[in-house]
Amino acid sequence: MKDDDRPRNYRKDTLLTHLGRNPEAQHGAINPPVYHASTILSKNVAEWENRRDPRVHFGVVRYGLSGTPTTFALEELLAKIEGGYRAAIVCSGLAAITAPLQGLLSQGDNILMVDSAYGPARNFCNREDVPAIAAVAHSRGAKVVMDNTWATPYLFRSFEHGVDVSIHAATKYIGGHSDVMLGAVITNEESWLPVRSMIADLGHCAGPDDIIFGLRGMRTLSVRLERHQKNATEVARWLQSRPEVSRVLYPALPEDPGYALWKRDFLGASGLFGVVLKAVPKAAVDAFVESLDLFGIGASWGGYESLIQPSYPERSRTATRWQAEGPLVRIHIGLEDPQDLIADLAQGLDRLRTVAAA
Ligand SMILES: *Cc1c(COP(=O)(O)O)cnc(C)c1O
Repeated sequence: MKDDDRPRNYRKDTLLTHLGRNPEAQHGAINPPVYHASTILSKNVAEWENRRDPRVHFGVVRYGLSGTPTTFALEELLAKIEGGYRAAIVCSGLAAITAPLQGLLSQGDNILMVDSAYGPARNFCNREDVPAIAAVAHSRGAKVVMDNTWATPYLFRSFEHGVDVSIHAATKYIGGHSDVMLGAVITNEESWLPVRSMIADLGHCAGPDDIIFGLRGMRTLSVRLERHQKNATEVARWLQSRPEVSRVLYPALPEDPGYALWKRDFLGASGLFGVVLKAVPKAAVDAFVESLDLFGIGASWGGYESLIQPSYPERSRTATRWQAEGPLVRIHIGLEDPQDLIADLAQGLDRLRTVAAA
Protein backbone atom coordinates (compact mmCIF):
# COMPACT_ATOMS: atom_id res chain seq x y z
CA MET A 1 0.00 0.00 0.00
CA LYS A 2 1.18 3.51 -0.74
CA ASP A 3 2.86 5.21 2.16
CA ASP A 4 0.64 8.28 2.45
CA ASP A 5 -2.05 9.33 4.87
CA ARG A 6 -5.16 8.54 2.84
CA PRO A 7 -7.70 6.94 5.17
CA ARG A 8 -8.08 3.22 4.52
CA ASN A 9 -10.39 0.67 5.97
CA TYR A 10 -9.29 -2.36 4.03
CA ARG A 11 -10.67 -5.69 5.10
CA LYS A 12 -8.54 -8.49 6.54
CA ASP A 13 -8.03 -10.42 3.30
CA THR A 14 -6.76 -7.29 1.58
CA LEU A 15 -4.44 -6.57 4.51
CA LEU A 16 -3.09 -10.14 4.40
CA THR A 17 -1.98 -9.41 0.84
CA HIS A 18 -0.74 -5.85 1.13
CA LEU A 19 0.61 -5.20 4.62
CA GLY A 20 4.27 -5.73 5.47
CA ARG A 21 5.48 -4.86 1.97
CA ASN A 22 7.34 -1.90 0.60
CA PRO A 23 8.24 -2.63 -3.06
CA GLU A 24 9.16 1.00 -3.74
CA ALA A 25 12.02 0.76 -1.26
CA GLN A 26 13.36 -2.48 -2.73
CA HIS A 27 13.64 -2.09 -6.50
CA GLY A 28 9.99 -3.05 -7.01
CA ALA A 29 10.38 -6.54 -5.60
CA ILE A 30 7.08 -7.63 -4.07
CA ASN A 31 8.51 -9.27 -0.96
CA PRO A 32 10.93 -7.80 1.59
CA PRO A 33 14.52 -8.93 1.30
CA VAL A 34 15.67 -11.71 3.62
CA TYR A 35 18.22 -9.93 5.77
CA HIS A 36 20.89 -12.24 7.11
CA ALA A 37 22.38 -9.90 9.66
CA SER A 38 23.97 -9.78 13.07
CA THR A 39 26.11 -6.62 12.98
CA ILE A 40 24.40 -3.42 11.90
CA LEU A 41 26.88 -0.67 11.06
CA SER A 42 26.39 2.95 12.09
CA LYS A 43 27.33 5.89 9.87
CA ASN A 44 29.07 7.71 12.68
CA VAL A 45 29.52 7.76 16.44
CA ALA A 46 26.42 9.88 17.01
CA GLU A 47 24.22 7.37 15.22
CA TRP A 48 25.81 4.52 17.16
CA GLU A 49 25.21 6.27 20.45
CA ASN A 50 21.68 7.28 19.59
CA ARG A 51 20.42 3.85 18.63
CA ARG A 52 17.29 3.44 20.65
CA ASP A 53 16.61 0.67 23.10
CA PRO A 54 15.15 -2.21 21.08
CA ARG A 55 13.11 -3.31 24.07
CA VAL A 56 11.15 -0.11 23.93
CA HIS A 57 11.08 0.85 20.30
CA PHE A 58 9.62 -1.13 17.48
CA GLY A 59 11.00 -1.23 13.99
CA VAL A 60 14.52 0.05 14.74
CA VAL A 61 17.31 -1.89 13.06
CA ARG A 62 19.99 -2.04 15.70
CA TYR A 63 21.37 -5.54 15.93
CA GLY A 64 20.27 -8.82 14.29
CA LEU A 65 18.79 -10.09 17.53
CA SER A 66 16.26 -7.28 17.81
CA GLY A 67 15.01 -7.68 14.26
CA THR A 68 15.46 -6.51 10.68
CA PRO A 69 12.91 -5.29 8.12
CA THR A 70 12.22 -8.99 7.37
CA THR A 71 11.17 -9.49 11.00
CA PHE A 72 9.25 -6.23 11.23
CA ALA A 73 7.16 -7.08 8.15
CA LEU A 74 5.81 -10.26 9.76
CA GLU A 75 5.38 -8.58 13.15
CA GLU A 76 3.37 -5.73 11.66
CA LEU A 77 1.14 -8.09 9.70
CA LEU A 78 0.42 -10.36 12.68
CA ALA A 79 -0.38 -7.49 15.05
CA LYS A 80 -2.73 -5.82 12.56
CA ILE A 81 -4.60 -8.98 11.57
CA GLU A 82 -5.30 -9.99 15.17
CA GLY A 83 -6.00 -6.42 16.29
CA GLY A 84 -3.17 -6.15 18.82
CA TYR A 85 -0.69 -3.35 19.52
CA ARG A 86 2.56 -5.01 18.51
CA ALA A 87 4.00 -8.46 17.86
CA ALA A 88 7.38 -10.05 18.58
CA ILE A 89 8.73 -13.03 16.67
CA VAL A 90 10.56 -15.76 18.55
CA CYS A 91 12.10 -19.09 17.62
CA SER A 92 9.21 -21.44 18.51
CA GLY A 93 5.70 -21.66 19.86
CA LEU A 94 7.09 -22.85 23.15
CA ALA A 95 9.32 -19.77 23.46
CA ALA A 96 6.23 -17.70 22.65
CA ILE A 97 4.55 -19.26 25.70
CA THR A 98 7.40 -19.12 28.21
CA ALA A 99 8.70 -15.61 27.43
CA PRO A 100 5.50 -13.62 28.17
CA LEU A 101 4.85 -15.68 31.31
CA GLN A 102 8.32 -14.78 32.53
CA GLY A 103 7.79 -11.17 31.55
CA LEU A 104 4.44 -10.80 33.29
CA LEU A 105 4.96 -12.89 36.42
CA SER A 106 7.07 -12.04 39.43
CA GLN A 107 8.22 -14.31 42.21
CA GLY A 108 5.28 -15.34 44.40
CA ASP A 109 2.64 -14.49 41.78
CA ASN A 110 -0.11 -16.98 41.09
CA ILE A 111 -0.99 -18.24 37.67
CA LEU A 112 -4.27 -19.85 36.73
CA MET A 113 -3.90 -22.19 33.81
CA VAL A 114 -6.58 -24.17 32.06
CA ASP A 115 -6.17 -27.89 32.54
CA SER A 116 -6.15 -28.58 28.84
CA ALA A 117 -3.47 -26.03 27.90
CA TYR A 118 -0.65 -28.45 27.30
CA GLY A 119 -2.64 -31.47 26.22
CA PRO A 120 -1.81 -31.72 22.56
CA ALA A 121 -5.15 -33.27 21.62
CA ARG A 122 -7.27 -30.41 22.84
CA ASN A 123 -7.33 -26.74 22.30
CA PHE A 124 -8.65 -24.79 25.18
CA CYS A 125 -10.42 -22.20 23.05
CA ASN A 126 -13.39 -24.36 22.24
CA ARG A 127 -14.39 -25.03 25.84
CA GLU A 128 -13.45 -21.83 27.57
CA ASP A 129 -15.42 -18.75 27.34
CA VAL A 130 -12.67 -16.22 26.65
CA PRO A 131 -14.64 -12.96 27.29
CA ALA A 132 -15.93 -14.36 30.59
CA ILE A 133 -12.42 -15.36 31.69
CA ALA A 134 -11.11 -11.94 30.70
CA ALA A 135 -13.83 -10.16 32.70
CA VAL A 136 -13.08 -12.14 35.87
CA ALA A 137 -9.31 -11.82 35.44
CA HIS A 138 -9.42 -8.08 34.86
CA SER A 139 -11.73 -7.53 37.84
CA ARG A 140 -8.98 -9.04 40.02
CA GLY A 141 -6.15 -7.14 38.33
CA ALA A 142 -4.93 -10.20 36.44
CA LYS A 143 -3.89 -10.44 32.82
CA VAL A 144 -5.16 -12.87 30.23
CA VAL A 145 -2.60 -14.74 28.16
CA MET A 146 -4.08 -16.93 25.47
CA ASP A 147 -2.59 -19.57 23.22
CA ASN A 148 -4.42 -18.73 20.00
CA THR A 149 -2.60 -21.22 17.77
CA TRP A 150 -5.67 -23.27 16.86
CA ALA A 151 -7.63 -20.30 15.54
CA THR A 152 -4.70 -18.19 14.22
CA PRO A 153 -4.80 -14.35 14.21
CA TYR A 154 -7.27 -14.65 11.35
CA LEU A 155 -10.08 -16.65 12.97
CA PHE A 156 -10.01 -15.26 16.52
CA ARG A 157 -9.42 -11.54 17.04
CA SER A 158 -8.45 -12.08 20.65
CA PHE A 159 -7.98 -8.42 21.57
CA GLU A 160 -11.65 -7.77 20.85
CA HIS A 161 -12.44 -10.39 23.52
CA GLY A 162 -10.37 -9.02 26.39
CA VAL A 163 -7.11 -10.88 25.85
CA ASP A 164 -3.91 -9.04 26.87
CA VAL A 165 -1.32 -11.31 25.29
CA SER A 166 -1.87 -13.72 22.42
CA ILE A 167 0.54 -16.55 21.71
CA HIS A 168 1.05 -18.34 18.42
CA ALA A 169 2.97 -21.42 17.46
CA ALA A 170 3.61 -19.94 14.01
CA THR A 171 5.14 -23.34 13.29
CA LYS A 172 1.56 -24.47 12.60
CA TYR A 173 -0.84 -22.64 10.23
CA ILE A 174 1.19 -19.45 9.86
CA GLY A 175 4.12 -21.42 8.44
CA GLY A 176 1.63 -23.82 6.96
CA HIS A 177 4.04 -26.19 5.22
CA SER A 178 5.69 -28.14 8.07
CA ASP A 179 9.08 -26.62 7.38
CA VAL A 180 9.67 -23.95 10.03
CA MET A 181 9.89 -23.53 13.78
CA LEU A 182 8.54 -20.10 14.65
CA GLY A 183 6.65 -18.39 17.44
CA ALA A 184 4.90 -15.06 17.82
CA VAL A 185 3.71 -13.05 20.80
CA ILE A 186 1.18 -10.30 20.17
CA THR A 187 0.24 -7.94 22.99
CA ASN A 188 -1.94 -4.98 23.76
CA GLU A 189 -0.23 -1.69 24.51
CA GLU A 190 -0.12 -2.16 28.27
CA SER A 191 1.63 -5.53 28.12
CA TRP A 192 4.09 -4.71 25.34
CA LEU A 193 6.98 -3.39 27.44
CA PRO A 194 7.28 -6.21 30.01
CA VAL A 195 6.84 -8.86 27.34
CA ARG A 196 9.17 -7.35 24.71
CA SER A 197 11.80 -6.58 27.35
CA MET A 198 11.78 -10.17 28.57
CA ILE A 199 12.13 -11.48 25.02
CA ALA A 200 15.15 -9.19 24.54
CA ASP A 201 16.65 -10.19 27.88
CA LEU A 202 16.23 -13.88 27.09
CA GLY A 203 17.89 -13.38 23.70
CA HIS A 204 15.04 -14.90 21.70
CA CYS A 205 14.92 -14.38 17.97
CA ALA A 206 14.21 -16.39 14.83
CA GLY A 207 16.23 -16.95 11.67
CA PRO A 208 15.48 -14.81 8.61
CA ASP A 209 14.63 -17.77 6.36
CA ASP A 210 12.05 -19.02 8.83
CA ILE A 211 10.61 -15.51 9.16
CA ILE A 212 10.19 -15.10 5.41
CA PHE A 213 8.43 -18.49 5.32
CA GLY A 214 6.11 -17.20 8.06
CA LEU A 215 5.41 -14.08 6.03
CA ARG A 216 4.80 -16.15 2.90
CA GLY A 217 2.43 -18.38 4.87
CA MET A 218 0.42 -15.36 6.02
CA ARG A 219 -0.30 -14.37 2.41
CA THR A 220 -2.29 -17.57 1.85
CA LEU A 221 -3.51 -18.12 5.41
CA SER A 222 -7.16 -17.27 4.84
CA VAL A 223 -7.44 -19.37 1.68
CA ARG A 224 -5.82 -22.37 3.32
CA LEU A 225 -7.93 -22.06 6.48
CA GLU A 226 -11.13 -21.94 4.48
CA ARG A 227 -10.21 -25.24 2.81
CA HIS A 228 -8.97 -26.80 6.07
CA GLN A 229 -12.33 -25.99 7.66
CA LYS A 230 -14.36 -27.26 4.69
CA ASN A 231 -12.40 -30.53 4.54
CA ALA A 232 -12.34 -30.99 8.32
CA THR A 233 -16.09 -30.44 8.58
CA GLU A 234 -16.76 -32.98 5.86
CA VAL A 235 -14.51 -35.61 7.44
CA ALA A 236 -15.75 -34.84 10.98
CA ARG A 237 -19.38 -35.25 9.91
CA TRP A 238 -18.60 -38.57 8.27
CA LEU A 239 -16.77 -39.74 11.40
CA GLN A 240 -19.81 -38.78 13.51
CA SER A 241 -21.87 -41.20 11.43
CA ARG A 242 -19.55 -44.15 12.06
CA PRO A 243 -20.46 -46.83 14.63
CA GLU A 244 -16.81 -47.04 15.82
CA VAL A 245 -16.87 -43.37 16.87
CA SER A 246 -18.24 -42.13 20.21
CA ARG A 247 -17.87 -38.42 19.54
CA VAL A 248 -15.98 -35.88 17.50
CA LEU A 249 -14.51 -32.92 19.39
CA TYR A 250 -14.74 -30.08 16.90
CA PRO A 251 -16.49 -26.83 17.85
CA ALA A 252 -17.73 -26.20 14.30
CA LEU A 253 -20.16 -29.13 14.71
CA PRO A 254 -23.55 -28.08 16.16
CA GLU A 255 -23.46 -31.18 18.42
CA ASP A 256 -20.22 -30.00 20.08
CA PRO A 257 -20.65 -28.44 23.58
CA GLY A 258 -18.40 -25.56 22.49
CA TYR A 259 -20.44 -24.77 19.38
CA ALA A 260 -22.37 -21.77 20.77
CA LEU A 261 -19.25 -20.03 22.09
CA TRP A 262 -17.33 -20.80 18.92
CA LYS A 263 -20.14 -19.42 16.80
CA ARG A 264 -20.34 -16.27 18.94
CA ASP A 265 -16.63 -15.45 19.12
CA PHE A 266 -14.73 -17.16 16.30
CA LEU A 267 -14.73 -16.34 12.61
CA GLY A 268 -14.16 -19.93 11.54
CA ALA A 269 -12.57 -23.23 12.52
CA SER A 270 -9.27 -24.76 11.52
CA GLY A 271 -8.50 -28.37 10.64
CA LEU A 272 -7.57 -29.92 13.99
CA PHE A 273 -9.98 -32.00 16.03
CA GLY A 274 -10.21 -34.94 18.39
CA VAL A 275 -12.08 -38.19 17.86
CA VAL A 276 -13.22 -40.27 20.82
CA LEU A 277 -13.60 -43.87 19.72
CA LYS A 278 -15.88 -46.45 21.27
CA ALA A 279 -14.01 -48.57 23.82
CA VAL A 280 -11.51 -50.82 22.02
CA PRO A 281 -8.11 -52.27 23.00
CA LYS A 282 -5.02 -50.14 22.33
CA ALA A 283 -3.87 -52.67 19.72
CA ALA A 284 -6.97 -51.90 17.64
CA VAL A 285 -6.33 -48.13 17.80
CA ASP A 286 -2.69 -48.63 16.86
CA ALA A 287 -3.71 -50.88 13.94
CA PHE A 288 -6.18 -48.20 12.76
CA VAL A 289 -3.59 -45.44 12.92
CA GLU A 290 -0.88 -47.54 11.24
CA SER A 291 -3.17 -48.76 8.46
CA LEU A 292 -3.80 -45.24 7.16
CA ASP A 293 -2.17 -44.32 3.90
CA LEU A 294 -2.74 -40.56 3.76
CA PHE A 295 -2.39 -39.65 7.45
CA GLY A 296 1.15 -39.35 8.78
CA ILE A 297 1.80 -40.25 12.41
CA GLY A 298 3.36 -37.13 13.81
CA ALA A 299 3.31 -34.20 16.14
CA SER A 300 2.79 -30.63 15.11
CA TRP A 301 0.05 -29.73 12.66
CA GLY A 302 -1.13 -26.84 10.54
CA GLY A 303 0.70 -27.96 7.41
CA TYR A 304 -0.98 -28.84 4.12
CA GLU A 305 -0.99 -32.55 4.97
CA SER A 306 -3.19 -34.74 7.14
CA LEU A 307 -1.84 -36.18 10.38
CA ILE A 308 -3.04 -38.48 13.12
CA GLN A 309 -1.80 -39.49 16.54
CA PRO A 310 -3.20 -41.33 19.54
CA SER A 311 -3.67 -38.93 22.43
CA TYR A 312 -3.73 -39.45 26.18
CA PRO A 313 -5.21 -36.41 27.95
CA GLU A 314 -5.65 -38.44 31.13
CA ARG A 315 -1.86 -38.40 31.50
CA SER A 316 -1.54 -34.62 31.67
CA ARG A 317 -4.66 -33.24 33.32
CA THR A 318 -4.44 -32.43 37.00
CA ALA A 319 -7.43 -30.23 37.86
CA THR A 320 -10.08 -32.17 35.99
CA ARG A 321 -10.53 -35.81 35.11
CA TRP A 322 -10.61 -36.73 31.45
CA GLN A 323 -13.61 -38.96 30.98
CA ALA A 324 -14.39 -40.53 27.65
CA GLU A 325 -16.06 -43.65 26.41
CA GLY A 326 -12.92 -44.89 24.68
CA PRO A 327 -9.51 -43.95 23.29
CA LEU A 328 -8.82 -40.54 21.76
CA VAL A 329 -7.06 -39.81 18.50
CA ARG A 330 -6.10 -36.36 17.29
CA ILE A 331 -6.55 -35.67 13.61
CA HIS A 332 -5.32 -32.82 11.48
CA ILE A 333 -7.13 -32.53 8.18
CA GLY A 334 -4.94 -31.24 5.39
CA LEU A 335 -5.68 -30.00 1.90
CA GLU A 336 -6.14 -33.41 0.26
CA ASP A 337 -9.46 -34.31 -1.35
CA PRO A 338 -11.74 -35.10 1.61
CA GLN A 339 -13.29 -38.06 -0.21
CA ASP A 340 -9.87 -39.72 -0.40
CA LEU A 341 -9.35 -39.02 3.31
CA ILE A 342 -12.75 -40.51 4.13
CA ALA A 343 -12.05 -43.65 2.06
CA ASP A 344 -8.71 -44.05 3.84
CA LEU A 345 -10.34 -43.66 7.28
CA ALA A 346 -13.05 -46.16 6.27
CA GLN A 347 -10.51 -48.87 5.48
CA GLY A 348 -8.68 -47.94 8.69
CA LEU A 349 -11.82 -48.37 10.78
CA ASP A 350 -12.41 -51.76 9.13
CA ARG A 351 -8.94 -52.72 10.31
CA LEU A 352 -9.76 -51.40 13.80
CA ARG A 353 -12.86 -53.62 13.96
CA THR A 354 -10.97 -56.68 12.73
CA VAL A 355 -8.24 -56.29 15.36
CA ALA A 356 -10.76 -55.45 18.12
CA ALA A 357 -12.74 -58.63 17.30
CA ALA A 358 -9.67 -60.88 17.21
C1 LIG B 1 2.67 -26.81 18.78
C2 LIG B 1 2.06 -25.95 19.79
C3 LIG B 1 2.86 -25.16 20.62
C4 LIG B 1 4.35 -25.22 20.57
O1 LIG B 1 4.86 -24.71 19.35
P1 LIG B 1 6.31 -25.11 18.83
O2 LIG B 1 6.55 -24.15 17.71
O3 LIG B 1 6.23 -26.54 18.39
O4 LIG B 1 7.26 -24.91 19.96
C5 LIG B 1 2.22 -24.31 21.50
N1 LIG B 1 0.88 -24.26 21.58
C6 LIG B 1 0.08 -25.02 20.81
C7 LIG B 1 -1.40 -24.93 20.96
C8 LIG B 1 0.65 -25.89 19.88
O5 LIG B 1 -0.13 -26.66 19.12
